[in-house]
Amino acid sequence: MFVTALMDVEDLVAPESDDIARKCAEILSEEGVAATLCVVGEKARLLRQRGRDDVIDALRRHDIGLHTDFHSVPPTIAAAMAVRDWEDGITEAMRSEGPGAAAIESVFGSVPSCWGGPGNTWGPQVCAAIRTLGIPAFVYAHTQVPGGGVHRFAGCLAYPNGPSVSDTNYQEDATAEQDRERLADRLKTAAAAGSAWQQVFLGHPTRILHEEFWDAPNFLGGANPPRSAWRPARQKSPADLQRALDNFRRAARMLRSLPGIEMRTIRQMNAHFEGAAGSALTAQQQAEVWPGIERNLADMKGWPILPPDFDAANILNLTRARLNTLEQFT
Ligand SMILES: [Zn+2]
Repeated sequence: MFVTALMDVEDLVAPESDDIARKCAEILSEEGVAATLCVVGEKARLLRQRGRDDVIDALRRHDIGLHTDFHSVPPTIAAAMAVRDWEDGITEAMRSEGPGAAAIESVFGSVPSCWGGPGNTWGPQVCAAIRTLGIPAFVYAHTQVPGGGVHRFAGCLAYPNGPSVSDTNYQEDATAEQDRERLADRLKTAAAAGSAWQQVFLGHPTRILHEEFWDAPNFLGGANPPRSAWRPARQKSPADLQRALDNFRRAARMLRSLPGIEMRTIRQMNAHFEGAAGSALTAQQQAEVWPGIERNLADMKGWPILPPDFDAANILNLTRARLNTLEQFT
């Protein structure tokens, strides 16, 4: 079974989050895990502005995806897609994500391997936009096919969420160990069930450094303070941070050591699936997978950054109208 380890590099507020991103990338490299790092476009520009070639070089040893251009800064991608039809949504997603794709390519030297939505949010129009931007895939996909594997939606390769360890637990030895054991069990079960690929989300470097998410003190409930008023999240104590990094390393080491598992980046998986012929779902299969997709999309509302009046109805309708573009691989 192939497994892709993912992390999100996204803190636009605290300059200290540059160093922790480098540290996490280095730990993954030391443990022999080539991961896919989803980097926010503005974060890439900040790294270059701050002259952090050391961080860029450490990240670049991994595969780089695009984690939107501005992540939590309003309007977020889901809020923008929720109020636009198909065509206008594509135009808006091209406008908002184009600079992010360009930033990733210019800072890291290659087109992003994938696009990943912030806070598990998304709009289906994004798929058409990123294809035009040369990005062939999206991760953290809300869409699904029978059996739950990699698929295509609207012409894009789609990689659904999978088991993970929680970055909020890394600083507690006992819970971090439980997380690792649960992850190992779930991967073994998936492999035994014949799964071809699983995603493992390893967390956010910024959340390893801080007690809270970087966007929470700034953008909660759709707030949009001026940049000069952005304030960094609270940092952990040095002892908590060290414990968190130790448990992060143990999670990477465990992944590497699991029997029957081969680590692949999204870029490698894209190459694997590139020319593969998919088959469309039957009407009955589309009906079967819809409740799961609907649940995933309805769950987007749980992202605390979205404005309270966020309504996913349009995203649900546009997605449902395109279930006939779902393709599964056999
Ligand atoms: Zn994120």
